[in-house]
Amino acid sequence: MTDRILLAQTLDTLLAPEKFRDYGPNGLQVEGRMQVRKMASGVTASLAFIEAAIARGADTLLVHHGLFWRGQDGCVTGWMKRRLALLLQHDINLFAYHLPLDAHPQWGNNAQLGQRLGLVATQRFGEQDLGFLGQRNDDQLFADAGALGAHVESALGRRVTIVDNRDQPIRRIAWCTGGAQGYFESAIAAGAGAFITGEISEPQAHYARECGVSYIACGHHASERYGAQAVAGHVAAQLALEHEFIDIDNPA
Ligand SMILES: [Zn+2]
Repeated sequence: MTDRILLAQTLDTLLAPEKFRDYGPNGLQVEGRMQVRKMASGVTASLAFIEAAIARGADTLLVHHGLFWRGQDGCVTGWMKRRLALLLQHDINLFAYHLPLDAHPQWGNNAQLGQRLGLVATQRFGEQDLGFLGQRNDDQLFADAGALGAHVESALGRRVTIVDNRDQPIRRIAWCTGGAQGYFESAIAAGAGAFITGEISEPQAHYARECGVSYIACGHHASERYGAQAVAGHVAAQLALEHEFIDIDNPA
């Protein structure tokens, strides 16, 4: 058991949100009770996640996608009212960390996805250094993009989208979790043979074909399932909290 203030300080010290320009507030987004016993981690503070966390007795939530984003109209209506009402009614703390949770070199989404895929990063690339670039941890090559795609499918348990026009072995692999299609050009510039992220938009298919760098989109949610649970597990062990990861499946 700990208190909300110490938990907030521990998370902020670990994730250093002040170093990032982000799309929403990082840290405590909704204040709940002071005494913290059980933390539930998840990808998104959706209604289903909040309900599941309450059902499992959590008093504190840690997510990658919180409730508040730049560009929202600021009204507490509809889905926002329902999510907020549930949190406030149950006196639940909601912590959310977006880019700081992608970026953390050990517990973040990119680091944890790399570990899951058996990749080791040797450099970072792209805006705010969020992209990871490296190779297989056994130093072998993937025979081609199809082999890399099949590997990602089996590691994540999900079908992926591959755009591939090079039929040659792949050593240097870049990755950036979530909706990082905008990082593809900096991955190409950094010398990647393939780029893995959650989503793909129309232009990237052409860049992949024209630049000979394979593109693998493995799902925004699927690529970001590992960071929040790693951070929460680490911090829970440090502060003697209970912790449970709750995965609410998402096809996107
Ligand atoms: Zn995301």
